[in-house]
Amino acid sequence: MSPANPPASDVSHPDRLYWPDEGVTKQNLADYYAAVWRFMAPYLVNRPLALLRLPDGIKSHQRFFQKHGWKGMNSHIEEIADPEDAEGEKLLRISDFDGLVALVQSAALEIHPWGTTTDHWERPDMIIMDLDPGEDVVWSAVITAALDVKARLEACGLAAFVKTSGGKGLHVVAPLAPKAGWPEVKGFAHSLAENMSADAPEKYLATATKAKRGGHIYIDYLRNGRGSTAVAPYSTRARPGAPVSMPLDWSDLKGLGGPAAFTLANVPQRLEVRPRDPWGDFFDAAVPLQ
Ligand code: ATP
Ligand code: MN
Ligand code: MN
Repeated sequence: MSPANPPASDVSHPDRLYWPDEGVTKQNLADYYAAVWRFMAPYLVNRPLALLRLPDGIKSHQRFFQKHGWKGMNSHIEEIADPEDAEGEKLLRISDFDGLVALVQSAALEIHPWGTTTDHWERPDMIIMDLDPGEDVVWSAVITAALDVKARLEACGLAAFVKTSGGKGLHVVAPLAPKAGWPEVKGFAHSLAENMSADAPEKYLATATKAKRGGHIYIDYLRNGRGSTAVAPYSTRARPGAPVSMPLDWSDLKGLGGPAAFTLANVPQRLEVRPRDPWGDFFDAAVPLQ
């Protein structure tokens, strides 16, 4: 049984427009996160976070991608020391729904966690394969690529889950029992990308060189290094339409309109109609990287 949604939260300046063209306000964002919290929490709490903050909404040029605190930061956002950099600037973490409301209050319109928790910093609990289609890549080819990543992960004994990025692509995510360290996990992700590109060089690239990207899908494995981040499941994106990164069933892919089909406006209703969590088995399916 899923726990109940947290009660709606009061925010200051609730009518502040974060997505002006869509009429999406700060209060709407808080309400959206109350509706998805019970599904989102495991991917958000107790993880170091990077935030894309846009204090004046997505139309403003003021956007800060930040990993560190700021003056006057809400007390529900915790500052934590990176054990590898104990003297360095502190990192950010939340541990409950109040923390998420504090992020809303702080105009964090995208939330990008590390692929690990602060209980086991050096042992990631997921592999994230980020599929980045170049110009001219048809959507069906991105779906094919995701299925190819899934097959390769499964051949290694891993489970695979898929979500939209809310931008241009898909993310295929494999849960890990936190045993292997960052270099091994990144090395594994790199090999997977290299193998795909070696097997189908006309379709896939394993290097970030933009020049060759047209017509190819870049298999971005770099989300898997220590300190790298990827957008959280259910996080909104600071892009037109208020899209979100939406966890899906594999069977949903063929009917999916595109990577930004799910939005702050349509996700809560979908969760009511279809309350089963497509990623409900995520952590139960975790095995160590062999
Ligand atoms: P898309 O589908 O459009 O590719 P995406 O979320 O996968 O969406 P990418 O550009 O592929 O976006 O990946 C960028 C990742 O790099 C983000 O997920 C984020 O965690 C990280 N990142 C690092 N620096 C920045 C920055 N300055 N601004 C935004 N993201 C950044
Ligand atoms: Mn991407
Ligand atoms: Mn990428």
